[in-house]
Amino acid sequence: MNSHHIQTAEATGSVAQNIAQLNLLAPESTCSTDLAASPWDTPAGYGPGASQEDQIPSGYPVQSSIPEEYLKASDEELDARIVAAKATLGDKAVILGHFYQRDEVVKYADFVGDSFQLANAALTRDKAEAIVFCGVHFMAETADILSREDQAVILPNLAAGCSMADMADGPSVQQCWEELTALYKDEEDDGRMPVIPVTYMNCSAELKAFVGRNGGLVCTSSNAATVLEWAFERGRRVLFFPDQHLGRNTAKAMGIALEQMPMWTPRKALGGNDEAIMHDAKVILWHGFCSVHKRFNPAQIAKARQEFPGVRVIVHPECPMEVVDAADEAGSTDYIQKAIAGATEPTTFAIGTEINMVNRLAAQYPQHTIFCLDPVICPCSTMYRIHPGYLAWVLEELVAGRVVNQITVPKDQQGDAKIALERMLAAKP
Ligand code: SF4
Repeated sequence: MNSHHIQTAEATGSVAQNIAQLNLLAPESTCSTDLAASPWDTPAGYGPGASQEDQIPSGYPVQSSIPEEYLKASDEELDARIVAAKATLGDKAVILGHFYQRDEVVKYADFVGDSFQLANAALTRDKAEAIVFCGVHFMAETADILSREDQAVILPNLAAGCSMADMADGPSVQQCWEELTALYKDEEDDGRMPVIPVTYMNCSAELKAFVGRNGGLVCTSSNAATVLEWAFERGRRVLFFPDQHLGRNTAKAMGIALEQMPMWTPRKALGGNDEAIMHDAKVILWHGFCSVHKRFNPAQIAKARQEFPGVRVIVHPECPMEVVDAADEAGSTDYIQKAIAGATEPTTFAIGTEINMVNRLAAQYPQHTIFCLDPVICPCSTMYRIHPGYLAWVLEELVAGRVVNQITVPKDQQGDAKIALERMLAAKP
């Protein structure tokens, strides 16, 4: 059950205090007073938390209201119902919980990990007919691409998207691609493609299929450098989307000059750049970011160093470049987790990633002092939309023989998206 670095949920303990106690906190200690609001209200933005100000694209899936009994049930009742439904389903269902998911939901997960680890972990449960993904939309899509056709992937709340993933939409990327293709068509042929599209895992299946179709591949925050090396062996440039920060931080560490990393702003001619810059470009960065990781800044790191001399500062590469530069280390959720697990002496860690994960690590490793660099409690708002009530609903529907909230990647995207994922797995440094 416990495959490599994937954590099983039992190990995470009960760290629900952080989010559960939001009602008790002064408003200024959270980034959104909506965090304490009813989970059933669907706000106009992505919901309470860091990306509440981000705009939801039109045509986004809407979660219809669920039966009132779930809205009215107490926490204890929901707990009893989830536990009972999970026991009845047994091996027929596997529940996945992302590192950034709230504890009230993660405690029911069979596996806890990052999105790609989880999609792969689900494959180890071959009796599972349903894969319940307590993460966000693109993660459920990835699980659908990798799982068997007879397995249903379920997202308990359809409104759980990812604002970063939604910053790159199919038509804008296609438009960009056409402009780049036209711009580079007269370049001298040196046997390499003029530009290779690389997408971060955090994107729609439509875009994974796009890169697969156009000679590109997917990367995670663990293997971005390897993937860029693969791309530079085959292409003169890379178009990197949707996260500008992961692209910039990775390319910079590989020695690429900042001047050769223009930013592509969608819906502007040549992304807002002139032709000379685009010809000289090595990595074209899409204007996307994660609202959670964008909150970190160098001043927080300076303060941590002042208050805790000797502190080890580790941040996620979705953080801005100045933050990564000021930190001691930068790495994926998996990297952060392993760095803490591997520390033999009691250590103070200041971490720059989502608060639910940081608090869980703090509870799991009491021998260390572990805190989040951002003093304000600001979870990933889209993950936050998966409330235990939704989980109880989808599980009880499964018990009754009904599949609700199934995420299905269209057939014409499945194949190309899988090619892009397989290229990633085959890319070796
Ligand atoms: S933490 Fe950021 S990138 Fe991750 S799901 Fe939330 S909004 Fe998306």
